[in-house]
Amino acid sequence: MFLTHLDCPRCGAQHDAHRPQNLCSCGSPLLARYDLAAVARAVDPTRIAGRSADLWRYRELLPVGEDRYVTTLGEGWTPLWHAPTYGALIGLERLLVKDEGLIPTGSFKARGAAVGVSRAVELGARHVAMPTNGNAGAAWATYAARAGIAATIAMPLAAPLITRQEVVAAGAELHLVDGLISDAGKLIAALIAESHGRIFDASTLKEPYRLEGKKTMGYEIVEQLGWRSPDVILYPTGGGVGLIGIHKALAELRELGWLTGPPPRLVAVQSSGCAPVVAAFDRGERRVRPWPDAQTVAFGITVPAPLGDELILDALADTGGTAIAVDDADILADLREFGRTEGLLLCPEGAACLTAARLLRERGWLSATDEVVVLNTGAGIKYPGTVPQD
Ligand SMILES: *Cc1c(COP(=O)(O)O)cnc(C)c1O
Ligand SMILES: [Zn+2]
Repeated sequence: MFLTHLDCPRCGAQHDAHRPQNLCSCGSPLLARYDLAAVARAVDPTRIAGRSADLWRYRELLPVGEDRYVTTLGEGWTPLWHAPTYGALIGLERLLVKDEGLIPTGSFKARGAAVGVSRAVELGARHVAMPTNGNAGAAWATYAARAGIAATIAMPLAAPLITRQEVVAAGAELHLVDGLISDAGKLIAALIAESHGRIFDASTLKEPYRLEGKKTMGYEIVEQLGWRSPDVILYPTGGGVGLIGIHKALAELRELGWLTGPPPRLVAVQSSGCAPVVAAFDRGERRVRPWPDAQTVAFGITVPAPLGDELILDALADTGGTAIAVDDADILADLREFGRTEGLLLCPEGAACLTAARLLRERGWLSATDEVVVLNTGAGIKYPGTVPQD
């Protein structure tokens, strides 16, 4: 294994990667570090090209030591589709949609769960717990069952019904909370405190390896474009793990020498019903202020106070990116327009990125020839009611 240690991006402390870890003592999420020089000696893009069509093709850049701990259902290596008709409609000649809806459990959360569960089990965890807006809980319950460990999941009552069913179907313990993901977080924190170390806290960014699974979206975009970057990547940002992960992945590829040229500009897309990152970006601050009364049709990005705010805002600043909030009515209109023109039913979070692309093009932030990648983070069929019936 090429994993060496965990870094705290806030205070600079280093932590042992070979035992279970949560946040740094300073409160920051931790980042997994690898011996990239050794990785570059062990493997190269040509070798990776011949490997399995899932995220484990990047095995040397993932934090699992022994193969027997790899818990997989074939997640990753999702298609990167051109969207020429919709693109022409909004004035983008090179619009691409990476369809994460094809992943087991119907969302890209399975990337984080596959890697997070694999590593947790390798480090001895027998029971994981987390709050969720639905998809992460569904994915972690599924992969925990696959690995033979227990899972406790807390989610808002308003989370998509199918995600509850996925949790129960996987034999996990489900708690429904009349509130937001932050309220579900309080319930989970109490359960973990009472468990005296028996339950491992797998909350978003409170353990370092979910991020490692999600970063593979960045590797895949680059590999699928022939080991080069697009101009812009738009990401529906809730906890921001995918955005932080893609930023980390691109930095690792550059250090490996597998990617040259300027990085893509990263864009955090939020709903105007819950836009703490956009508000902080507009104020020029690195910390978010908790968003009051958060509510949006794009349920997966209803995160009033993301823990990784500094890392998200650093990724935007570092790449010359931006943050933009879009309205629910526009999200739903663009979701329908995309279905009509390209045939793919997006999740509302993915559709939010199309709205953002359209608005950023109108405002001149995007040019007609920019190569723009939009992440469709989940399957549209998980969300009934986004398209009106006659
Ligand atoms: C969780 C989720 C998001 C947001 O992901 P983060 O990486 O936590 O920002 C976006 N879309 C869907 C469908 C999700 O389930
Ligand atoms: Zn620290």
